[in-house]
Amino acid sequence: MKVTILGCGASYGVPSLFKGFGKCNPNNPKNVRFRSSILIEKQEQHILIDTPPEIRLELLRAKVKKIDALLYTHCHYDHMAGAEDVRKYTQKLGQVLDIYGSRFDLNEYKNQMRHAFKDKKQSDSVNLHTVQFYHPFEVNGITVLPIKQYHGTINSVGYRIGNFAYSTDVKTMDKKGLDLLKGIDTWLIECTTDKEALAHVSLEQLLEWVDYIKPKYTYLTHLGTEWDYDKLSKRLPKNICPVYDGMIIKINS
Ligand SMILES: [Zn+2]
Repeated sequence: MKVTILGCGASYGVPSLFKGFGKCNPNNPKNVRFRSSILIEKQEQHILIDTPPEIRLELLRAKVKKIDALLYTHCHYDHMAGAEDVRKYTQKLGQVLDIYGSRFDLNEYKNQMRHAFKDKKQSDSVNLHTVQFYHPFEVNGITVLPIKQYHGTINSVGYRIGNFAYSTDVKTMDKKGLDLLKGIDTWLIECTTDKEALAHVSLEQLLEWVDYIKPKYTYLTHLGTEWDYDKLSKRLPKNICPVYDGMIIKINS
């Protein structure tokens, strides 16, 4: 199983329009971050998680030639704004795009993509599947477990696939969710800011979660302008490191 970090930036990307590179060294290419998205390759399947505003550039950069399914973590702008690029792409390839998300997020998808549900030809281009927290579902033979996350005023969905889990845009989780993450090899978790924010976990809290779940490797994503790649790397314990755009993680599954 292979995970490609298509983008690892927080909501406004790095550099952002209003903060530039912030505390990040502008000369380190690892500090240039498109908004967060990943591609999972397993059993010949290509599963995309989220469609940020730069998804077109991200897919071109990673030379992605196939998308078999799309999973949404939640409906915020930085995770869904590129939805039309992906729908159009798979439609042109003659595919029906299978999209998975919570009821709330899929309703928001339909709101944002009203034009795609106006007539049958367009609406036949996607197949929406509602996921229920803690109820595993199958994506072309791959089992996926959706985990409930609290993200400010809304819920977001974390996904566990085999020994890997992706938990972005999360401030808190129920103990049930944390317990279901036990046994993973590789955890990709958000680290937007140092201190707790309205909708995001603090570094200190996520390190406590790592102590509890004990994944072999932990990677930090959804990084904001306060996190310089080298400085953050030095602050972290062994087996925990930040990611960068284009990074590939191989996982035994
Ligand atoms: Zn986000």
